[in-house]
Amino acid sequence: MSQYTNEQLEEIRQGLIAVEARIKALLGQTTGDTRPVDLELPIGRLSRADAMQMQGMAQMNRRQLEIRLQQVGVALKALDSGTYGSCRNCKGPINPERLSARPESPFCIGCQEAFEHEG
Ligand SMILES: [Zn+2]
Repeated sequence: MSQYTNEQLEEIRQGLIAVEARIKALLGQTTGDTRPVDLELPIGRLSRADAMQMQGMAQMNRRQLEIRLQQVGVALKALDSGTYGSCRNCKGPINPERLSARPESPFCIGCQEAFEHEG
């Protein structure tokens, strides 16, 4: 069961699609076969946190970007299947604040931290 309204889900979807486009552009940029990405480009309602996140993304390495791109794809599928917002590990709800900062987050904070500590 989703904790979001249809309107919120649509907004999340738009945000994910924007993130996906940015990651693809950044991946393209690292191989030099697309135009440079303008990080100042307005990206709609997802705002300043999102813009900061994009700048952070520009500094990520290719592997990290590929992982995130994959997570975005998974999150978009989860939106379609109505499971968005649930941790893919423990199935618990992911904190909405976490999701608004990083809409493709596949795990709740507890699981994410556990994974990071495992390395
Ligand atoms: Zn979890």
